[in-house]
Amino acid sequence: MKDFLIVGAGLYGSVIAHELTRKGYSCIVIDKRGASGGNIRTEMREGIMVHEYGAHIFHTSDEQVWKFVTDLVPMSPFVHSPVACFKGSFYSLPFNMHTFKALFGTSEPEEARARIEKEALEEKMRIVKERRSKESGSSARTSYNDVTDQDPEVDQTCKVSRNTGTTEKNIEDIRDRFEEDREIKEFAPANLEEQALVTVGRTVYETLIKGYTAKQWGCDPRMLSADIIKRIPIRYTYKEDYFNDRYEGLPSTEAGGYTGLIDRLLEGVEVRLDTDYLALREQRDPDTWYKDPGLGLAKRVIYSGAVDEFFCSCYGPLAYRSLRFEQEELETDDFQGHAVVNYTDSESPFTRIIEHKHLTADYRPSGRPFTVITKEYPKLFAEGDERFYPVRDNVSMERYNKYMELAAGCPLVAFGGRLGSYRYLDMDKVIKAALEDAGRLRDGGEERNTVKNDSDTV
Ligand SMILES: Cc1cc2nc3c(=O)[nH]c(=O)nc-3n(C[C@H](O)[C@H](O)[C@H](O)COP(=O)(O)OP(=O)(O)OC[C@H]3O[C@@H](n4cnc5c(N)ncnc54)[C@H](O)[C@@H]3O)c2cc1C
Repeated sequence: MKDFLIVGAGLYGSVIAHELTRKGYSCIVIDKRGASGGNIRTEMREGIMVHEYGAHIFHTSDEQVWKFVTDLVPMSPFVHSPVACFKGSFYSLPFNMHTFKALFGTSEPEEARARIEKEALEEKMRIVKERRSKESGSSARTSYNDVTDQDPEVDQTCKVSRNTGTTEKNIEDIRDRFEEDREIKEFAPANLEEQALVTVGRTVYETLIKGYTAKQWGCDPRMLSADIIKRIPIRYTYKEDYFNDRYEGLPSTEAGGYTGLIDRLLEGVEVRLDTDYLALREQRDPDTWYKDPGLGLAKRVIYSGAVDEFFCSCYGPLAYRSLRFEQEELETDDFQGHAVVNYTDSESPFTRIIEHKHLTADYRPSGRPFTVITKEYPKLFAEGDERFYPVRDNVSMERYNKYMELAAGCPLVAFGGRLGSYRYLDMDKVIKAALEDAGRLRDGGEERNTVKNDSDTV
């Protein structure tokens, strides 16, 4: 019997298996898929490293994590700088001076900042005004209304700038006057749309956020919590790097991409693919399996599958978003001239197209026109789909906390990784968590399902 049964040969399970094996523990890793690597799996196709589950760019500012990865595989340099396509026009992401130049014609940071701030303030004023008029009947008038009623110039300013896109009046003066207004000052966005409008204004919102968000979440942005996009990165520079981290890159083609990294992590570890923990468990006596969650294979279990599934969804399922990937092999040298293009209009049914060869810094052409692209279609999770993004809404978080209470009563099982912790985690965070969890388990600490009363919702 092994020391640990690790469920999931994704990044989390593989790092834990590697660390525990290095320290002399025996591990067996199982995965219900037919291949290891989980969602970071890559496959070589005619010299192109294909990311099977969407583009994965490794980025971190954590020295320990970067060293851990680069000790295992050489990294090829890569700088992520996606572009957005809205109805055939292209814009830089995240929002930067190239974006503002294309949208507004502004070349200087202060010009762009003034334009964004003006639009954002106009939206705040409009929303406050609408809220007040909804409450009409109430005799109380906001100082905003007081000012606009007394000063038609103010409304005129908003109309002029909305229609022409130019600042005709001194927006600073108006802002100063309105910022004194209690309702403007204490303004709390009621939903994602309001949050975006009062941060980046209507032009950026409607061109680059609205359609994309609606497709990503499958609903009107007004139905979504403002918290989802609390921080919208805006850069008043021409810098186009998407990430601000100190290190960025991808495991080199020579090293086998992410699959090479996983292979290195799992060297010397017994791995059984096409093996579903829940199916194995079903074959056992339902009244006694919990005394032996290692199912006769190991003394203890590390579980990186979905926590609700583990507990048979007894408190109800947790919400997830899924994705459908449509992969195409094309007889052309270059399909879109870029690694990642986000489609931000609502007419295109996909959210992004990846052209894999542009992610492969050390790509070697095969000698014939050839490229591989993947279109990503977001969808609501349904039974049989892959769970990609946890939707941490209030109902799900309440259920998740209850599952964690159950987990606390299972000392032989530790939950971790993206699905085990029901949290979107970038790869560097997964590695960090796996290293810490492995350290705790190794040092004889009891498995503690520490994520209790987790109230971080979307
Ligand atoms: C579309 C997309 C793009 C992303 N892009 C980036 C990026 O650019 N940069 C970045 O840092 N991060 C990115 N991520 C996040 C990254 O994918 C995760 O950090 C990482 O894959 C999490 O690893 P994991 O092992 O926790 O989960 P997973 O990769 O999901 O692995 C879990 C494994 O457990 C197996 N499993 C589940 N249940 C069972 C069961 N009952 N029995 C047996 N096996 C089971 C699954 O088959 C799976 O292989 C992206 C995520 C998505 C969805």
